[in-house]
This record gives sequence, structure tokens and C-alpha cells, in this order.
Amino acid sequence: MTRPIRAVIHTAALAANYAHAKACAPSSKVFAVIKANAYGHGIANMVAALPNADAFATLEMPSALALRELGVKQPILLLEGVFSAAELQLCAHHEFWLSVHDERGIHWLESTVLSRPVHIFLKLNTGMNRLGFPAEAASVLVERLKQCINVASITLMAHFATADDPEQGVAAQCARFDAACADLNLPVTLANSAALLAYPETHRQWVRPGISLYGSSPFSNKSAAELGLQAAMTLSAEVIGVQELKAGDTVGYGAGFVAARPMRVGIVACGYADGYPRHAPTGTPVLLNGVRSRLIGRVSMDMLAVDLSDQPEAGLGSEVELWGKNVSIDEVASAAGTIGYELMCAVAARVPVFVE
Ligand code: PLP
Repeated sequence: MTRPIRAVIHTAALAANYAHAKACAPSSKVFAVIKANAYGHGIANMVAALPNADAFATLEMPSALALRELGVKQPILLLEGVFSAAELQLCAHHEFWLSVHDERGIHWLESTVLSRPVHIFLKLNTGMNRLGFPAEAASVLVERLKQCINVASITLMAHFATADDPEQGVAAQCARFDAACADLNLPVTLANSAALLAYPETHRQWVRPGISLYGSSPFSNKSAAELGLQAAMTLSAEVIGVQELKAGDTVGYGAGFVAARPMRVGIVACGYADGYPRHAPTGTPVLLNGVRSRLIGRVSMDMLAVDLSDQPEAGLGSEVELWGKNVSIDEVASAAGTIGYELMCAVAARVPVFVE
């Protein structure tokens, strides 16, 4: 008997969320961002769900190679570029598209012998201040890259810092980008999920959604369901122990939860070592046998406790959805003071994954 915990990946939801992205940006092509093992959903599952994706975007060379091994023929963009001249050669060999964001990247392009030229995404900094050349340097850099024999084409790329925040939005970054790049007449990619969903003016030739494809909302004030997104992962586990509490009894480490009256508590086979957030407080929603209940007490490494009081028939073997189609991952993340991204990426390798 294996430990009764599982993550189920919903292929139809992944496909529907990608179709939703295409419908939001009908004139753009859509990268499916699959870094971090497809945000915890499994690269292979994503590839199977999206046989007709326009292209994929990932982070590091091994995951790009894994995509090719899975038979992906579409373009594959390396969002952070390469980390050596040898990787650049691999890039050319496998026809990966490449972000170039610093002088070192250009130097490798200018000084390495490649089997074929590569398609370049010139990453410009418009205010995120993470990776990228200052946007104002774009025209000089484009001229330089056009002289480089290893460059097959140039697309301009930038990334938003506050597209998820309606107060700050994208206007300042867009204005900086357009002031520097409007005359260059090159294809452009700017939008992450939040910009894709909220700012059509950012769509341009390519959009790069990640989180929305997995059915989580990038906005704190709008749920995934309101956005028309479907949860692509359900994390569930079973009740493996039951405790009958008297008034005044406590639950778990720190004895932080104190029963106000006699109650029944279910101990569930999921803890922070499975990826459930340790900081989720008492009251965080769970679905118990199809009905909403709540987490109580502190989350342990391998177990957490839920309130069985309102469901006399619940007990050993009862099914608890920690997040998924009924309890959104964003609700749990928000209760724990984090974001859906972090939870889905943190599901542990020891959790068996099933695909439906
Ligand atoms: N593009 C780049 C460069 C990114 O780093 C990311 C993720 O952080 C994305 C696109 C996708 O962003 P999101 O998951 O918010 O849609």
C-alpha cells in the first residue's frame, strides 16, 4: 500500500488554458512557458497536452534538450540564454532560440564557430532591472547583431515587473520600450500571463504566458475562475488518522490550535515535505469528501490536520483535496502568504503524479 497522496494533472485543463491564451491574443503567437518542470506539472505532460503549441519557452539547457527528446519540433526559446560558448554550440545544433541579455552573450555569438546561425531574442531592460540591456541601447545592439554571422534573426524582448498590479500596470515599461524600439521594425515579445490577460496593447508578435496555462491567476484581486482559467493540478490525500478532542485539547506542534468544544480531527497524509505550505494557518480551506472544511493547527513535515466536526461520516480513508478544481491553489497560497507559482513548483518528488 503506497502512502495515500497524489497529484493529478488535468490535460484537458492545460489545453483549454492554452486555447484561452490564443483567444486572448488572436494576432500573436503563444509561447507555452514550461520552466521549472512546467511549473511543477511535468514537461512531458505539458508537451502531451499541447501538441500544436506555437512554441515552448524554458530556462535551462537540460529542459530544452528534454523537449527535443520528447519529440518537440516547435521552436524552443531559452529565456535566460546560455551560460557558456559550448552551450551556444548546442543551441545551434538543436535549433534552440536564444535570449541574449548581456555583453557576455553577444561576445559568445561573435566569437564562436556555430554549425548554423541562431534566432536571437534581444532582452531589454525597461524597468524590471533583472536581466537585459538598457532599452535605450537597442538600436546600437541590433546593428551590431545584424553584423554577426551567427545571428539568423532578431526579436526584441522585455519583461514586466508589475503587470499583475492594476495600480502600477505596464504603461511606464511599455512607454520606455516603445520610445527605444518603435523604429526598429522587428518582432517583439513583452507579455507574461498578467499582461496577456489585462493589456492587449502588449501582445505584439509573441506572448509568453506561464502561470495562466496552469490555471492560476496572476492577479490577487481576480480569481482564476473569473478569468476563465481551469485548475490543471489537483493535490489530494487521505485521512490516515482520527482524533477525538475534548474542549481545551490542542493539535500538533506548538499546541497552537485549542479546541473550543469537543471535536473530531482528521490527520491527512500530506505535509510540508510534500509541498503543502507550512505557513498555511488554521482556517485554510480544504475539500473533505466533497465538502469544504478547514485546516487546523500547524502543518507538519508529513501530515496536516483537518476539521471533521461537520461531517460525522468522514473518517479514515476520507478524501481531502488540498488544492485543485474545488479549492483553488490561489486560495491556499493567499492564506499562506505566498502565490500559486510557489506552491505548484514546490510539489515534492515523493508525491506520485497521475495524468488524466
Ligand atoms: N517570460 C519570462 C522571461 C519569465 O521569466 C516568465 C516567468 O516568470 C514568464 C515569461 C511567464 O510569466 P507568468 O508565469 O507570470 O505568465
